[in-house]
Amino acid sequence: MLLKKFTATLFLFILFIVVLPVSGQNAGDYIQVDINLIADGHRVDAEEGFLCQNDIVLIPLHTLCSILGASFTWEPDEWKISILSEDKKLVTYIASQNCANGDKLERMPARPTLHNGTVMVPLRYMAESLGAAVFWSQETRSVMVSTTGETEWFSKINRGKTRENIHIDKVVVIDPGHGGSNPGAVYGNVNEKDLNLKVSKILKDKLTASGVTVYMTRTDDRDVGLYTRAEIANKLNADLFISIHHNASPNTSAQGVMTLYYPTANDKVFNGKKLAQIVQKHLVNSLKTRDWGIIPRPNLVVIRQTRMPAVIAELGYMTNKSELQRLVTDDFQEKAAQALHSAVMEALQH
Ligand SMILES: [Zn+2]
Repeated sequence: MLLKKFTATLFLFILFIVVLPVSGQNAGDYIQVDINLIADGHRVDAEEGFLCQNDIVLIPLHTLCSILGASFTWEPDEWKISILSEDKKLVTYIASQNCANGDKLERMPARPTLHNGTVMVPLRYMAESLGAAVFWSQETRSVMVSTTGETEWFSKINRGKTRENIHIDKVVVIDPGHGGSNPGAVYGNVNEKDLNLKVSKILKDKLTASGVTVYMTRTDDRDVGLYTRAEIANKLNADLFISIHHNASPNTSAQGVMTLYYPTANDKVFNGKKLAQIVQKHLVNSLKTRDWGIIPRPNLVVIRQTRMPAVIAELGYMTNKSELQRLVTDDFQEKAAQALHSAVMEALQH
């Protein structure tokens, strides 16, 4: 009798599922989703994409393990997935909701599945079980994973607010002028190479915090050839190249900012000239100093040899005594870096 009742209930249940399909997705369906995955501040591409089941993001097993530095085995005959990381071990199966986490059996929020031959596993559950921190930003549709415990960049990227404002896929090369045996302009005991590096480092931190991938042609006081600087940016296929310098003039009363670019015939694309206009605009607005405008310079190696929009920003005259006093201050360097940051963020919209 009981069995009969159970059978009847089961039949009704099946009837509901079969006869009354909800339009669109059913609970438990896997759907493909377009999201950003950022691990330790860097964007990670998952060729096979991402899935969602009941709002839980699933990630290719091999992508997860490469982010976490874990190893895994996949035994297709048993549908068995094992992940090993230091002293931690997770074992689960395709379509199972259970996972053996060491000697504990846990219930996962989504079930591993096969997607076009790729094993997909619940991202947050797996990553957190292996000691990583995970954060989801709805605004930017980004999953951020920190394997180091450093989570400050989560909120910084989250503050980017819209997906369009996140430039995790953009690469900017910052080129601190001179270095090593080449001090650039020298006035009193101040070397241009040191000022260039200081502003460059502040700019790098600001851009990184905005999710931009940044490389510098030098990060300390060393010689780097001009062709090497351009080559670094070309090899990285950078989106923008920003070289940072300070000016000098026999006219010791000269002061103010200028931006140099390499003149090209093609004005239809976003080129060095257009980048220079944006950079100069932000520098003048922020530093409130004399505007020398943008200047075409066909013979400067770093802007001529680079294959992406490139500029040299001349932030002020070291030969002007009162301007030099300003150039060495934290306040000026912060303002200059902030202006360049705004310029890069605007230029990356193009
Ligand atoms: Zn210089």
